[in-house]
Amino acid sequence: MNTILVTGGAGYIGSICVEELLNAGYQVAVFDNLSEGHRAAVDPRATFFYGELADRLALEQALEDSKATAVMHFAAHALVGESMVNPSKYFYNNVSCGLNLLDAMVTKGVKRFVFSSTCATFGVPGSMPINELMPQHPINPYGASKLMFEQILDWYGKIHEITFVALRYFNAAGATECFGEDHRIETHLIPNVLQVALGQKKEVEIYGTDYPTADGSCIRDYIHVLDLAQAHLLALQSKESAFYNLGTGGGTSVKEVIECCRRVTGLPISILEKPRRAGDPPILIGSSEKIKKDLGWNPQYQSIEKIIQSAWKWHQRHPLGYNDDNE
Ligand code: UDP
Repeated sequence: MNTILVTGGAGYIGSICVEELLNAGYQVAVFDNLSEGHRAAVDPRATFFYGELADRLALEQALEDSKATAVMHFAAHALVGESMVNPSKYFYNNVSCGLNLLDAMVTKGVKRFVFSSTCATFGVPGSMPINELMPQHPINPYGASKLMFEQILDWYGKIHEITFVALRYFNAAGATECFGEDHRIETHLIPNVLQVALGQKKEVEIYGTDYPTADGSCIRDYIHVLDLAQAHLLALQSKESAFYNLGTGGGTSVKEVIECCRRVTGLPISILEKPRRAGDPPILIGSSEKIKKDLGWNPQYQSIEKIIQSAWKWHQRHPLGYNDDNE
């Protein structure tokens, strides 16, 4: 039975991939320092290692104890805005600590790696949808840190024979029955809008209404976490190294997301128009033709309505996030 070591398995996307790995019959060991994640978000069927990515010995021990044959690496900082204020946090954790993980794998002879990368590695491309052949020129330290790690992976592939798949997510959203999105400081659009619907916030702020888009707000490509999780399983099973974009080929503006949340919740949601947030490209839409063709990825939830419905269900059931589960 294969065991997968999942770093960041207590976080939003990591926890849902852990659940899907377990459902598919894998054994899972989660490695997480709970700085962003939650203990209650770790599926009880998984083994849990509390540790820091900076701690090489802890990583090597976890690889050895779990007898992992592959690693899925989610543990990273992922906020564009924060990265524009505190770049050190992003380069240290996403690059240096990631490197520590790869070196621990080299020491322990673990050769298979699936990496959470991001569309932020592309910056502001000349055309949409973004495919894998387009140049990568990130415009924020978050995207730059992930691109650096992609390049490191490429070299570790050549030199240390680690085979890897880097999945460049567009905007992950939605929830499963058990696990959902709960950040200690919430900056993401959909949970912020739903917090207004829950009466926890007065209004949702729209960052920029003067972008060159039809309604002036930013357009993003929202992808259901369960579709992302399916891509991770396929990535794990594939034998080749590759980079794949994971989007839906379509985009939704901030204003359209808010309108959809009003429809799904049946509640009025007040808005407040604010200036642009530093580091935000106007439009990001991804093409996923390559992963469909190579790995047979077959997304099931490609509608903003379905994504928001699943998130709303989870947030209604967990209005305080994981804190109400006696974390
Ligand atoms: N956004 C917004 N209000 C919020 C949170 C986000 O207007 O409270 C905008 C943000 O500027 C971006 C889009 O919504 O254009 C998606 O942002 P999010 O932080 O969810 O994801 P990102 O694209 O930064 O990864």
